[in-house]
Amino acid sequence: MSEASDAQRMLCSLASKLFRPLECATRPVSIIERPLASHMPIAPPIPSTPDDEPQVLRLRDIRIADARALLGKYKLELVEVEDGAPIPGSFWGDDEAGVIGSRVYARRDTPVHSLLHESCHLIVLPAERRAAVHTDATDSVIEEDASCYLQILLADQLPGVGSQRVMRDMDRWGYTFRLGSAAAWFAQDAGDARAWLAERGLLPELQSVDQEAPLGEAPLAPVQPAD
Ligand SMILES: [Zn+2]
Repeated sequence: MSEASDAQRMLCSLASKLFRPLECATRPVSIIERPLASHMPIAPPIPSTPDDEPQVLRLRDIRIADARALLGKYKLELVEVEDGAPIPGSFWGDDEAGVIGSRVYARRDTPVHSLLHESCHLIVLPAERRAAVHTDATDSVIEEDASCYLQILLADQLPGVGSQRVMRDMDRWGYTFRLGSAAAWFAQDAGDARAWLAERGLLPELQSVDQEAPLGEAPLAPVQPAD
């Protein structure tokens, strides 16, 4: 159709060889597109200088003990990786968190949203599947959606983070959502993810995901079908 969509298709076809299909840019799922440009081998890695870094919260900006305690509630172990060292089990490479079994690996420069996202991938899995995870936790769209949803909720349990901030960081990092932002997706298009988590008893107790700014309609209300 347009030049843009041709280019996108080319990128997708290349990406599909390297990434899970649900991360393909043209796939009409509710969420998912991580920042291909920063991870595609066709582009040089983005330098990790402060000026070039997307303005997102990183592990060094919060108390690591808080992150460790949160993961511990789910029987996950946070393993700190030395500055500059490769992160074991990182699907996206570079500074993004990695998962192997019940361990979540992160560096001080790992974005908080990445730590939460990869942790949630493990949290949503039954124990026997969790034990088998190495690097790539799932091919399931609903597990991907559920991980995104849960990471937004769990951000509220990290002092200095919060759901609003993590949703902004997700947008800045390049997650793409059909409704244009993580907040819009969370409020209006994530009913299936919420229901899936509820069925499995994985919704955290807290009722408010957001003290600092309204999310539009109450995020915990039933949402409309996606299509
Ligand atoms: Zn994911």
